[in-house]
Amino acid sequence: MKELKEKIEQYGTVLPGNVLKVDAFLNHQVDPELMLHIGQEFAKRFANEGITKVWTVESSGIAPAVFTGLAMKVPVIFARKHKSLTLNNDMYTADVYSYTKKTTNRISISKKYVDSSDKILMIDDFLANGQAVEGMLEIADQAGVDVAGAGIVIEKSFQPGANELKDRGIRVESLARIKSLDNGKVEFMPEQ
Ligand code: 5GP
Repeated sequence: MKELKEKIEQYGTVLPGNVLKVDAFLNHQVDPELMLHIGQEFAKRFANEGITKVWTVESSGIAPAVFTGLAMKVPVIFARKHKSLTLNNDMYTADVYSYTKKTTNRISISKKYVDSSDKILMIDDFLANGQAVEGMLEIADQAGVDVAGAGIVIEKSFQPGANELKDRGIRVESLARIKSLDNGKVEFMPEQ
């Protein structure tokens, strides 16, 4: 997606540990026009899949997920993150290790908002090692819902998450794919 790639080139900065900082338009300040186009692009790519709900994980997935839900005219659920959570029968839960924060969070989705006939689209801002998406898949499995795939704003293709998901038969649609962040420079995958 050209517009997204240009934003990354203009505003993205590379932090130590191969972390791309995109606080200018995605992770802190949010560019609503870009989010609108991102939502429309995911809706186009996953059209005719019979998606009934969009799932994401708080907090950085919420902006692209809400615009995707708007474009698809379906509700959006964001899994909530907790440092620890006493087991609660009203919630589906999974443990997710955060690549950027180096901590494990328990994510949860209330059973109240899940229907076993749902077909879900998972949205996230980044795909790195795949932990966040794996957590949502674990919850989807517990809930017995169908999964249409994952819509990712920025895929770090040099980390294993995307390939691991594809190997498991999960459809992954990424709007920007990064080949490398070496030497503080953003290099995109060649096909973009
Ligand atoms: P994963 O679970 O795939 O390892 O990582 C995905 C999550 O980690 C995303 O939800 C995102 O919040 C965070 N993340 C991973 N890599 C980056 C990065 O390079 N930059 C930023 N800003 N967040 C990242």
